Amino acid sequence: MNTEVRVLEPGQIEAPAGEIRFLFLAGRDLFARRAERFRLLSEDHPLGDYLAFLAALADAQQNALNQFPTLSLPDPKEQAFCRDQGMPLLGARSWPRDPAWRAALTMILRYMSAAALPAAASETVVSLIHASEAGLEEMADKILAGDLGAISPGELPFVAAALQVYWVQMASALGEQAFGRLEQGGMCPVCGSHPVAGIVRSGGTEQGLRYLYCSLCASQWHMVRIKCSNCESANGINHYTLEGSTGAVKAESCDDCSTYLKLLYLEKDGGMEAMADDLATLALDMLMDNEGKACGGPNLFFHPGMV
Ligand SMILES: [Zn+2]
Ligand SMILES: [Zn+2]
Repeated sequence: MNTEVRVLEPGQIEAPAGEIRFLFLAGRDLFARRAERFRLLSEDHPLGDYLAFLAALADAQQNALNQFPTLSLPDPKEQAFCRDQGMPLLGARSWPRDPAWRAALTMILRYMSAAALPAAASETVVSLIHASEAGLEEMADKILAGDLGAISPGELPFVAAALQVYWVQMASALGEQAFGRLEQGGMCPVCGSHPVAGIVRSGGTEQGLRYLYCSLCASQWHMVRIKCSNCESANGINHYTLEGSTGAVKAESCDDCSTYLKLLYLEKDGGMEAMADDLATLALDMLMDNEGKACGGPNLFFHPGMV
């Protein structure tokens, strides 16, 4: 493992925040692109079977998003209120979920039941198809509260996948102008969730800027690079890479709060996608664990019991 001395890199001295585009919502083709990335990463990978499963799951998510019905959403008055108060408009823990998210889950499960799945996953699909509404809502509450270990490892990816589709649908129907900055720069301004990773953009006016990538709705919001994304401290920030890696993915750790978040440098690999590349670099998480740092970026497809 290489530890880097922190030096200013191009793009770290940034233009005033008002001149920087603050938010990018996920595109309507998010899951198709994610599926493609999972599929590519699954080749010759120690976790190849799981990554290939997640590629099929992302295809199922895209299929569900394409057919998602129109939902009732916060009106302009509510949008302005949340922007003024610095509150996420579609808060993962507070938003009253429409039953449509369960319809998306059913679509995902039907799609997956036609895929060639391992026996255990097929059994989970059948049991979730027959699960009670109350049971599913309870699982959703736990996932959205960040308590991923409270769900069985088999059920987690399916239920989380449906919640992602629902949140992406709502955010894209509202559009970027509906959302404002939060006081806490490390939380998603759309849904209040933690980021799965950070992305350092490449090219154009965003060259070298860091955007945090939401673990739930895949929105990307700008955050300056000199601060820890978790506690906003500017002291004791270090970067780690795996020995022999291209340096496209680094873990950025903070001495003040003892957490880390991965940073994906698109300049080194423009095809990276935060959820997929985070899961494909679990070796880096293991090294950070040995360093005594806790992961600050939850991945909804990673159950704490998997390691
Ligand atoms: Zn979000
Ligand atoms: Zn920190």
